[in-house]
Amino acid sequence: MSEIYNFSAGPAMLPKQVLNQIQGELIEYGNAKASVMEISHRGVDFMQVAQKAEQDLRELMNIPNNYKVLFLQGGASAQFSMVPINLLRGKTSVNYANTGHWSVKAIAEAKRYAEVNICTDSSANKFTDIDDFSNWNIDQDAAYLHYIPNETIAGLEFDFIPEVDMPIVADMSSTILSREIDVSKFGVIYAGAQKNIGPSGLTIVIVREDLIGEVVPKQPVLFDYATHANNDSMYNTPSTFPWYAAGRVFEWLKDQGGIGAMASVNERKAAKLYQAIDGSDFYSNPVNPKYRSWMNVPFILANDSLDKMFLEKSYNANLLALKGHKSVGGMRASIYNAMPESGVDALIEFMADFEKQHG
Ligand SMILES: *Cc1c(COP(=O)(O)O)cnc(C)c1O
Repeated sequence: MSEIYNFSAGPAMLPKQVLNQIQGELIEYGNAKASVMEISHRGVDFMQVAQKAEQDLRELMNIPNNYKVLFLQGGASAQFSMVPINLLRGKTSVNYANTGHWSVKAIAEAKRYAEVNICTDSSANKFTDIDDFSNWNIDQDAAYLHYIPNETIAGLEFDFIPEVDMPIVADMSSTILSREIDVSKFGVIYAGAQKNIGPSGLTIVIVREDLIGEVVPKQPVLFDYATHANNDSMYNTPSTFPWYAAGRVFEWLKDQGGIGAMASVNERKAAKLYQAIDGSDFYSNPVNPKYRSWMNVPFILANDSLDKMFLEKSYNANLLALKGHKSVGGMRASIYNAMPESGVDALIEFMADFEKQHG
């Protein structure tokens, strides 16, 4: 049986070494005489897990001291609400870049709290391109600028950070830890864990301290960053198991050489997959090559009546979860940090064979 490679967009595959490690320490965690799932979040064993995970993430991303790292629940979707609630700070308008499916969701939620200025809009090109920043229409009085550096569904990824005179907020759910970024350029970075961090049920929020503490009145206490920042993310019971598992992934990342080393592998993995797609008339990807995602690679077959067979045969060849999102069609290979280069090689080989038989 050949090795199994899981191309799921999320919840996505985890490093095999991490799963083995979790299995090995599942029943009794360290000296806790119980599973990590069964102990108090306020006890010494879990406190160590929590602190180590934060410390390792700070090290990996080089997070400056004036930023808090929060380990929350509610997914990236809860941040679509928490961002305006916490960052509006007396202003009435906000800037949002509309570059894909998740941008649309974030914008709809922000409209409940503020006037939303769509500062750039890729919907006319079906989210396959990003307008030059010089053409963006920024509301200079707005509270912040929100954008999504990697749109997971269309596979559209920024190769630049917007330059504005206001806090920048980034939903990094599907790109966090895949390449080096300068955290100090951002007011808030958030990410659901289930793409490139760990199991679902955990959301990481990295927020500059001066942006914490002034919220839209009468909002739930759990939606105030200060609630979590003042209680080490333990105002109420956190998502302990995903927090622990994320910590194991952070340790694994450090063992791989950190984010710089991961980025080189990620860039190479994406480049060879796009090269295989572009080198064939049978497969195609519509995204402007400058803005193609390193993490999510959608592609369509020239003849979509072969989609079903492609999915069946790839599944039988142990290449899982390649079905594209319904809004894009075709296939999508999500190749996050945990996907080894050998998995991308296996996919490319399968694609070439399938084309030979059916092209
Ligand atoms: C998956 C995803 C989301 C939704 O995340 P949830 O954790 O399910 O709320 C939001 N934004 C981006 C960019 C995503 O990839």
